[in-house]
Amino acid sequence: MSPEGDGNQHDHDPVTTPAAAGAGASAWQARLTGLLAEVSREALEGEDLEAVLRRIVECLVRNLPVAIASIILLDDEGTHFMQEVWAGDVELFPQELAHGWPVSVGAAGRCARTGEAQLINDVDTDPDYISGNSAVRSEYLVPIRHRTRLHGVLNIESTRADFFSEETRSVFDAIAGQVAGAIHLARVVGELESANRKLEQLSMSDGLTGIANRRCFDQRLSAEWEWLAGEGRELALVLADADAFKPLNDAHGHLYGDECLRELARICMRLADGTDDLVARFGGEELVLLLPGRDLAAAQELGERLRRDVEAAAMPHAQSQVAPHVTVSVGVSAVRPSKAMSPDHLIAAADRALYMAKARGRNRVIALEADPKDA
Ligand code: GH3
Ligand code: MG
Ligand code: MG
Repeated sequence: MSPEGDGNQHDHDPVTTPAAAGAGASAWQARLTGLLAEVSREALEGEDLEAVLRRIVECLVRNLPVAIASIILLDDEGTHFMQEVWAGDVELFPQELAHGWPVSVGAAGRCARTGEAQLINDVDTDPDYISGNSAVRSEYLVPIRHRTRLHGVLNIESTRADFFSEETRSVFDAIAGQVAGAIHLARVVGELESANRKLEQLSMSDGLTGIANRRCFDQRLSAEWEWLAGEGRELALVLADADAFKPLNDAHGHLYGDECLRELARICMRLADGTDDLVARFGGEELVLLLPGRDLAAAQELGERLRRDVEAAAMPHAQSQVAPHVTVSVGVSAVRPSKAMSPDHLIAAADRALYMAKARGRNRVIALEADPKDA
C-alpha cells in the first residue's frame, strides 16, 4: 500500500489541524462537527456491521490527516481481538495481528485491559506500540463501550506528533460512542433475527417427534398444490395411522407410546427420499407424507414399504388384535391439482382410503385416486 495514500494527502490541506487553521480555528471545529454528523449517519445505517464500520474508518481517513484509522473488535469474552476493520496506509500488516490476538499484546490491548483511552504522543518510546506504518508518530486509542460492555477499540494513528489535541481527542471519544451504538444495534438486530428464525422453526415443527407439524404441512400442501397445478404434475399423499394406539398406551404407558411415535417418524423420514417430500405429524398418532410429482402407484408402493418397515421394527404391542407389535394402516391418494379444486379433496381421499384399510382389518395399504369430479 502506498504511503502517499489517502491518509497523508490532507497534510497539505490548510484546514486540517487547529494549528494549521490558525485564525480559522472555527473552520477546524466545523470540520470535526461535520465529521461527527457523518459518522452518526453511518452508525445508524444498521445494515451489515462490517460495512458500517468500514465506512466509518474510511470517513475518518478521508476527512482528517490520519494515516490509519481502525476499529478492532473483541470476542465475547473480551480476552482476544477477533477482527480489525481499517482504512489508510498500512505498509505492513503486523504478523502478530494476523489472526485473533490476545489483549495482553499491543497498545490496543492495553486500552482494552485498562478500559481507558490511551494517548501516545511518541510511538517510538511506547513499549506496546506495534507499527503498521513507519511514518506514524502518534496514536490515540479509545475503548468502544456500550453501557458496561466493551466491544473493542477505536485506533487512530497520525504522522504528526501534535495531532491529538484535547479537542480532537474529544471528537474521537464521541465517535467511539457512535461506533459502540452501531455495534450494539447490529448485534441486537442479529440476535432478533436469529431468535425469529428459531421461533419460525419452532412454530413449524412437532415437539415430540421433531418432524414438521400440521401447520407446516398445511402451508406446504397449499404451496405445492398451486405450483403443481401450474406444472400439470401429480401430487400424492400417504397417510399412516398407528393401529390400536389407545390400547398400546393403556398396556405399555404413554411414554412408550411416545417413543413408538418417534420411531414411526424416523421410519417415515427414511422413506421420504424426494427433494420436495415432506414428512409431518398430521395429528395424534397419524403421520403423513406429502409427495410432489408422484402418482398413485408410486405412492402406494411407498405406503407398502412404510407398512413393512413398521412391522420390521417389531415394537412390542401386547394389546393389539392385529399383531404382537406396532402396525400401521395406510391411506394413499393422488391427484393432478387444479386451481378449480381444493387440496382438501386430496386429504379427504386419503382419509377415505385409510378408513377402508382400518375396516378391512388394519395393517394394510389402500390407495384411492382423488376424483376431480368430487370437487
Ligand atoms: P385404531 O386402530 O382405530 O387407529 O385405534 P386407535 O386406538 O389407534 O385410535 P384412537 O383414535 O381410538 O386412539 C388414538 C390414540 O392415540 C389415543 C391417544 O391417546 C393416542 N395418542 C395421540 N397422540 C399421542 C401422543 O402424542 N403420545 C401418545 N403416547 N399417544 C398419543
Ligand atoms: Mg387416529
Ligand atoms: Mg390409530
